[in-house]
Amino acid sequence: MEQYQSLSKEQLLGLCEDLKAQYEGYKAQNLKLDMSRGKPSPEQLDLTMGMLDILHKGSGMVSGGVDTRNYGMMDGLPEAKKIFADILEVEPGMIIIGGTSSLNMMYDTVVRALLLGVYGGKEPWIRQGKLKFLCPVPGYDRHFAITEQLGIEMVGIPMDENGPDMDLVEQYVNSDPSVKGIWCVPKYSNPGGIVYSDAVVRRFAALRPAADDFRIFWDNAYVVHDLYPERAPKLYNIFEACKEYGSEDMVFEFCSTSKVSFSGGGICAMAASERNIELIKKQMSVQVICFDKVNQLQHVRFFKDKDGVLQHMKRHAAVIRPKFELVLGTLREELGGLGIASWTDPAGGYFISVDTLPGCAKRTVQLCKEAGVVLTGAGAAFPYGKDPQDQNIRLAPTYPELRELEVAARLFTLCLKLAAAERLLA
Ligand code: PLP
Repeated sequence: MEQYQSLSKEQLLGLCEDLKAQYEGYKAQNLKLDMSRGKPSPEQLDLTMGMLDILHKGSGMVSGGVDTRNYGMMDGLPEAKKIFADILEVEPGMIIIGGTSSLNMMYDTVVRALLLGVYGGKEPWIRQGKLKFLCPVPGYDRHFAITEQLGIEMVGIPMDENGPDMDLVEQYVNSDPSVKGIWCVPKYSNPGGIVYSDAVVRRFAALRPAADDFRIFWDNAYVVHDLYPERAPKLYNIFEACKEYGSEDMVFEFCSTSKVSFSGGGICAMAASERNIELIKKQMSVQVICFDKVNQLQHVRFFKDKDGVLQHMKRHAAVIRPKFELVLGTLREELGGLGIASWTDPAGGYFISVDTLPGCAKRTVQLCKEAGVVLTGAGAAFPYGKDPQDQNIRLAPTYPELRELEVAARLFTLCLKLAAAERLLA
């Protein structure tokens, strides 16, 4: 098939008719499929069921000298800290284990910065007038929802295959004291699947913020989520890079086991310099007496160490790799060479990001919805839900079964083609 742009009006009209007929065929199937969120499939969740049998009456509930059933150790069990410290390649003293959600921890971290301030800052953010966060796009909608809800202005920063446009990041951060933070998903970004290059990580470490209380929110949610573990790209350790510039206090790193053990029932952690950790612990001690150490103990006993986590993630990869390959194969087969879409080919994470012709994303998502396949809303990956080009769509292939996914992927490509043909005729 030729590129759509080189088709005559008559050819496009004929194509539209043909695509519409195929589309009606899908509608008649009364499909009901949901590809909107990056959720693990039941088969993935089953991999962790053994964790539920690990603690029992006779198993002993003491860890690090502490009865996990009781209050105490607000910052987490030492064995749990060690696992996260090894995964994030930091010292255990730089870790706080939280509850069951890293997003919750990020939200609280922003709120504390607003109301109480961060280490090294002169006043709480909220007393400093208008505030801004940089938002590499496309990015994670729930990050943007936090800053939007809390009244922080968001500035979109374009990304390429190496990470955010660092010229622009430096321009903002190094000159504007109202820029207080940046949201980053440095490994297998959501949704682009991009792994920040070493040079980009170094440029982050080398930032010289105009604000003395600027923080990089380094959400390493997909740190162990490699689809091809034997040839997984390595993300340069930002704290290592910061040592060279003495900028360790600038970074708040987050992660969780939401897509390792149970989503919403795992454990989360944050990593930061010891100076940051000391202040955060002091502030947090008013918020909480301690988190769920019984859950932490289950995780520690089930995974044992970093290697245990990595072995477990290979089993996850075996389940979801065929799903990614199926969707990518369908995109290539149906859309390759047509000049109407481009897409990412991620080596890990939970998403595939598709760019349509400008002005076609909303229409594609709407057509899918009317035929029974729910996708993430078009524009969701941009601050305020507004994709200036209306062209980005996030696909989340992990949850549906392969058979359903095959139908959903074919329907998606059909809707995208129809939206493109309509656009070119308009
Ligand atoms: N961060 C990113 C980049 C995500 O994609 C997600 C979930 O999709 C989360 C955080 C949520 O993590 P948690 O379940 O630990 O709150």
